[in-house]
Amino acid sequence: MNQFLSRRVFILIPFMSILKIIFKPMKVLASSLVSKEEWNLSKEEWKSRLSAESYYILREEGTERAFSSQLNDEKRKGVFHCAGCDLPLFLSDKKYDSGTGWPSFWDSIQGSVETKVDFKLIVPRTEYHCARCGGHQGHVFNDGPLPTGKRYCNNGLALRFLSD
Ligand SMILES: [Zn+2]
Repeated sequence: MNQFLSRRVFILIPFMSILKIIFKPMKVLASSLVSKEEWNLSKEEWKSRLSAESYYILREEGTERAFSSQLNDEKRKGVFHCAGCDLPLFLSDKKYDSGTGWPSFWDSIQGSVETKVDFKLIVPRTEYHCARCGGHQGHVFNDGPLPTGKRYCNNGLALRFLSD
């Protein structure tokens, strides 16, 4: 019996590791492609998922009133996720009080946000949005603290905070 078992394990283990090698890279590639596609929702679908306020920020590049978000004063350890698709965007140890009235971070989680230049206030600003669902988050400025010197000025309504 023991001999029989060990022979099965002996055959199974190399077989499983071959499967892992074959399928792992494909799975990663497939999930990154699918995830963006998955979040290509229509206006109506977004409206049914989000509150009116969050829809205005995330999907129409709106800006909430300064000092209106509870997340501005959030000081617990945790992760700030996109309110649209739940992708983790910022870690609490990169958050700081910029005094602007919006939750501010000096760095984002690598690859989680993408930027574009907008001219809404005539002077060009760098808008950034969730890399997965495209939801508008805020604007990034070059007056933040070291080591990056960046200030990601984020709308609280575009985020969902999960404490550790
Ligand atoms: Zn998102």
